[in-house]
Amino acid sequence: APAVAQAVANAPAANRRSIPAVLGADLEVPVKGGRLVGYANLDYAASAPCLEPVSAAVAAALPAYSSVHRGAGYASQLTTARYEQARHTVRAFVGARPDDAVIFTRNTTDATNLLAGCLPEGTTTVVFDTEHHASLLPWPASVRLAPPAFPGEAVRAADEALAGIDGPKLLVVTAASNVTGELWPIAALAHIAHRHGARILVDAAQLVPHRQLNLTALDLDYVAFSGHKLYAPFGAGVLVGRRDWLAEGEPYLKGGGAVRSVEESTQWHDDPEPRHEAGTPNVLGAIALAAACDALTATGWSELVREEERLISRLRSGLASVEGVRELSLWGDDHPRVGIVSFIVAGYSAREVAEALSSEYGIGVRDGKFCAHPFVRHLLGTADGGCEDDTASAIRASIGIGTTQEHVDRLVEALRDLVSRRG
Ligand code: PLP
Repeated sequence: APAVAQAVANAPAANRRSIPAVLGADLEVPVKGGRLVGYANLDYAASAPCLEPVSAAVAAALPAYSSVHRGAGYASQLTTARYEQARHTVRAFVGARPDDAVIFTRNTTDATNLLAGCLPEGTTTVVFDTEHHASLLPWPASVRLAPPAFPGEAVRAADEALAGIDGPKLLVVTAASNVTGELWPIAALAHIAHRHGARILVDAAQLVPHRQLNLTALDLDYVAFSGHKLYAPFGAGVLVGRRDWLAEGEPYLKGGGAVRSVEESTQWHDDPEPRHEAGTPNVLGAIALAAACDALTATGWSELVREEERLISRLRSGLASVEGVRELSLWGDDHPRVGIVSFIVAGYSAREVAEALSSEYGIGVRDGKFCAHPFVRHLLGTADGGCEDDTASAIRASIGIGTTQEHVDRLVEALRDLVSRRG
């Protein structure tokens, strides 16, 4: 055990107080005419590139990995210690209460579905139509609220909806929109939820890569997020929050690790972590996710936010300077937001713009409805428009660590170019 403790303590430390590098920063991609240009990745909201300290933490764990929670051997003990350390890191990263459960999942979608399966009988969920489908769809019974015209209206609408519900209730809200980047008034919504005896789940998938979150200070009951949007590779996410519903809910997966004993009847673990993490977990994914948490914390939020705000302001004023480009926003230009912006370009479909940006300028953005169909339709003012309807789609540019001023300027100039071509 002392050797295990030492090995865990020797894990590569995040480089304090400087913004870490991302892998793939020097990637070159072919554009029309066969030229190679540096890739301007402006698609962080889909999946962010891997931070170097994350890659180093995974590399350090690889040589001695073994199954967790079962083996007596050194590698198994070490891997178990690293996995449990990752849980502590995540707990600290989101400012969770000491008795909150921290359950590793595959991603945010997995986390919201896990909670949906643990709701007490008869729970009604209140959810805004602005949500990502991961937070909009998993609920057995829900009241859907129209996109609010201003933040105070969100609080008022939640208040009214929760007041009209009997029995257990859960308010679900995204902290930072994956479409507009706008920040939601989660503290006020938590307050309202609790006044009505409801709980609140915050989808923090797009918040935690950009801002510090403190679950205890905000008085949130649950938060969910994904590693792959937080500069770690795919396959690991978390659900953090109050233990009781999770301790009683149906085990998310049934199998080894989730049971205390299997005889005539099966005794499931009462602790939410083993109860919902049956089978061999994604240990390296959890280690990577925790290393990303450590790296962001070590860098310091003020530094990260300052750099992001500089670039996103430059991008937004650049977009505003191109005639025919319209940024989408629910609560207006001045409402605070993270490094995400969606827009449309007059005379072009979203797909045409995204393809031209990639094939001619080496810029990666996303086009579509971003798994938030009702919200994008609302922002575009289109009553209908199926998934394949290009007129009901937008383009999204999103930034983070590794984004440069050149990337941002290249996008703005490319759009100016595209617009001028169509006269
Ligand atoms: N919630 C928000 C706000 C998101 O942006 C996303 C991803 O696009 C998700 C949930 C779902 O994340 P995942 O695909 O990792 O489950």
